[in-house]
Amino acid sequence: MTRIAPGGSIGIFGGGQLGRMTALAAARLGYRCHVFCPEADSPAVQVSAAATIAGYDDAKALDAFSASIDVATFEFENVPYEAVARVAAKVPVRPGWDALRTSQDRAVEKRFLNSIGLETAPWTEVRSAADLRRAPCPGILKTARLGYDGKGQVRLGEGFDADAVWQAFGAERGVAEALVDFSAEVSAIAARGADGSIAVFDVAQNDHREGILRRSLVPAPVPSAIAAEAQALAARAAEALDIVGLLAVEFFVTRSGRLLANEIAPRPHNSGHWTQDACGTDQFEQFVRAVAGLPLGDPARLSDAEMVNLLGDDVLAWAELAAEPGARLHLYGKRDVRPGRKMGHVNRLLPKSR
Ligand code: AMP
Repeated sequence: MTRIAPGGSIGIFGGGQLGRMTALAAARLGYRCHVFCPEADSPAVQVSAAATIAGYDDAKALDAFSASIDVATFEFENVPYEAVARVAAKVPVRPGWDALRTSQDRAVEKRFLNSIGLETAPWTEVRSAADLRRAPCPGILKTARLGYDGKGQVRLGEGFDADAVWQAFGAERGVAEALVDFSAEVSAIAARGADGSIAVFDVAQNDHREGILRRSLVPAPVPSAIAAEAQALAARAAEALDIVGLLAVEFFVTRSGRLLANEIAPRPHNSGHWTQDACGTDQFEQFVRAVAGLPLGDPARLSDAEMVNLLGDDVLAWAELAAEPGARLHLYGKRDVRPGRKMGHVNRLLPKSR
């Protein structure tokens, strides 16, 4: 087990807000972060000790990056395989290749989830209009790769035209899944240390709008047996993938109380941002601890919490939010405000109800 002592350097693929908050947590523990991403002045670059601004296919830049870090991780799962493999030949990459490969492809992901006993909505892999004719209906067609926040998704209604939908879809491969009539969406985030120890955060209930997370509430207002089951399933998936880091699992809660896994992410997750202000150890510190080979911290929740994403123009209310008693404002340093763009979030703490 590689343990990186404070003062060491953690390489992060990706320059977004998850990298930014990881770098801030790492700095508190005395680590330096070196961000590798194509965009200058990105949220993570602004707060990191070092940055390489280069394409993920730049072999020279990847080699120099590897030579300057003790361990590497990623803040988004769509880092090209070749880039990760090149760095992994020189330094440990955590949470590991299995996790990355599985979460990069919705078909691989669903097959994996089903193989370890996690139920999903009925689904089928789609490579042609003929495959699409066998899709569950009503349903959703999603790109197998490179989709996020509801992008690359098409609803399949009664009597849909498979040829027209497939042609307009454009992707080479997709998964079509049944539309779930859920009573709630929840997520559980499991941390797994380099020593195999597991710590799971309390379960959040999540509201999405147009496929983008809008709000998380903790504790999730679902029966405690369902919350406990979600935690156990997330821990099972983290173990099966041999994660060293974090694994977030999003679920639908059906009207009959079943949990259907929707998506996994082997990194900090938007639905875990509440932990920054409501837990002894938050998801970012837990991530850093795991990646650096430190013992995991205590994930205990100290208060109830609501997290609201600031999307697009929402961020213009920053002055009022900064003045709101009890609201903890987190902004990502993004200059351009675009509709739906994640600009920041606010955590509101409430007395602990359970
Ligand atoms: P995803 O990109 O798969 O996380 O989907 C984004 C959001 O779209 C989810 O959080 C749900 O709100 C909604 N959604 C995705 N798949 C389904 C489904 N099979 N049934 C109902 N809603 C879905």
